[in-house]
Amino acid sequence: MVDANAILATRVPNHDADDRVVWSSSIDGNYKVKAGYKFWHDRNIGYSAIPQSKGWHRIWKLTIPYKFKIFLWRFCRNNLPVRVRLKGKGVPVPIMCPMCNVEIEHLRHVFFECEFALSCWHSAELTLDTTNLYEADVWLLDKLETTSQSDSTKVCTVLYGIWYGRNKRVWENKVMSGETVMDICSKMLQDWKNANAKRVVEVPDHSQFTLGVLRRWQVPESGEYKLNVDASWTKGADICSVGMVLRDSRGHFIEGRTMSFTQAGDVLEAEALGIREALSWVKNMGELKVTVESDSLVAVNVINGKNNYLLEVGHIIDHCRSLLRVLPSVRLNFIRKQANEVAHGLAKMPCDINCLVTFTSLPTHLDEICNFEMI
Ligand SMILES: [Zn+2]
Repeated sequence: MVDANAILATRVPNHDADDRVVWSSSIDGNYKVKAGYKFWHDRNIGYSAIPQSKGWHRIWKLTIPYKFKIFLWRFCRNNLPVRVRLKGKGVPVPIMCPMCNVEIEHLRHVFFECEFALSCWHSAELTLDTTNLYEADVWLLDKLETTSQSDSTKVCTVLYGIWYGRNKRVWENKVMSGETVMDICSKMLQDWKNANAKRVVEVPDHSQFTLGVLRRWQVPESGEYKLNVDASWTKGADICSVGMVLRDSRGHFIEGRTMSFTQAGDVLEAEALGIREALSWVKNMGELKVTVESDSLVAVNVINGKNNYLLEVGHIIDHCRSLLRVLPSVRLNFIRKQANEVAHGLAKMPCDINCLVTFTSLPTHLDEICNFEMI
């Protein structure tokens, strides 16, 4: 017999029909979104819903901008906010394709069936074989797994371009031809390649500024912990995302976190906010010996009292300093960017504003970096 108080109604999305209400039970009688989602997930999707493929690794190995990679990852996770998906989540949006207004906007239509998509493929001079294209995400993973880096890059650039053109139409009401969109995205890719090629030549191998600071992540002393933090700041939107990763003295990953804020006015403020969040997290851990590492030399020096600070971020700096005062077993150190890549990768993960996302295991690409960046 199940206690009546423990029976809860959960709205369950259904692939084949409209949402429906099913009965779920909870041991303690409290409704939990997580439990409701797990129930739905196990019942309707199961773990096999994410296709197993070597294509996942290829995403992160392609020589393309990070924003292209994040887009591909979301595509393969069937996680792009196409209208049919938003509608399924209860968002009040029209369901028709914004580009042609003829078909329902779902993943396959957007990228492979819509007139606009076909004009992009045509402009890129790529022949699109849709014979076996039933699931767009599976199709792309297969392409990534079976084609050369150069061909995969072309395919990915077209897909990114289609999404770019679609978003220009939806958010800015700009109508662009497939040819124009592909010109923009090809230039975007080329500019990124040029910038990265220059960086290799221009950045000296030994900067006096950071001489003596390790390039690789180093394990903390036995029994101690290390918390790396990094922030990414979006100019114009004033949004910053923070990535944090906690590891033990054997270099083993313990937990990762991402969160986003809207009030960050510049990069320094974003980095300072990240450090504040890292110190706040440490404060809740108890008496652990933790070294917090950030790759913002300015923020670290200012918080540690080595430099004066700007008034604009003064309240955040003060908060960080007061946290350090009550945490005598916690240190804040500078670390080079090359040794802070896991936190950097987490900061780049998609994250809703003001939402804390906790990782109990790292995404595959960051897991590899986690092992690689260690000494
Ligand atoms: Zn369409």
